[in-house]
Amino acid sequence: MTNAFVVAVDGPSGSGKSSTARGVADRLGFAYLDTGAMYRAVTWAVLRRGIDTADAGAVAGVMDQIEITSGTDPLAPTIAADGVDVSVEIRGDEVTAHVSPVAVVPEVRAALVARQREIIAAAAGGIVVEGRDIGSTVAPDAPVKIYLVADPEARAARRAAEVGATDTASTAASLARRDHIDSSRATSPLVKSDGAVEIDSTYLTLEEVVATIVAIVEERR
Ligand code: C5P
Repeated sequence: MTNAFVVAVDGPSGSGKSSTARGVADRLGFAYLDTGAMYRAVTWAVLRRGIDTADAGAVAGVMDQIEITSGTDPLAPTIAADGVDVSVEIRGDEVTAHVSPVAVVPEVRAALVARQREIIAAAAGGIVVEGRDIGSTVAPDAPVKIYLVADPEARAARRAAEVGATDTASTAASLARRDHIDSSRATSPLVKSDGAVEIDSTYLTLEEVVATIVAIVEERR
């Protein structure tokens, strides 16, 4: 497989995964892979083709036409679909509303998990990979697995601040909807995987969470 040292960071939306994973990768000189961005990029490409995201068969049917490219620099990660830079579009409301039903489709997961494993295998030193199923499915042998959680209010406030939304209640509802779909799907649901260290970020600063994970990596390296 790979000689890269893999740090798997899983958890629900708004738990601080992205900032944390990028911070850890930057501190350790590791690559960084945002798998959520890959599911979002596929969703953008599906919507662009005019496909109903509730039609799993139709979504599965276009998967082999969609090309996703991920850049793994933690200071400047990139994401493209069909050769188009979609880093801004994938954070919009439309993609956010449709991503969880797309991520349920087994053919989508199979294609993206295979791609994620290729990227991990190509990482020379180490790589921090964030998502929902990294410790359980994508990289079950990762020497460090983190399960990041936070109280729902803290998660909604962070996510609203991230996207510049003023309506925290609707952000909270959107998070709850995605949590439910992500945790109850049949293929690779969001779960705390065996051997994962759970960190509750509700009352910790970003720097404290990053330092905790870096210390775990240093100890196991
Ligand atoms: O992390 P982010 O909020 O960008 O992820 C968007 C969506 O992509 C999640 O709500 C989930 O449906 C899906 N996802 C997934 N598996 C991953 C990463 C993300 O199903 N490893």
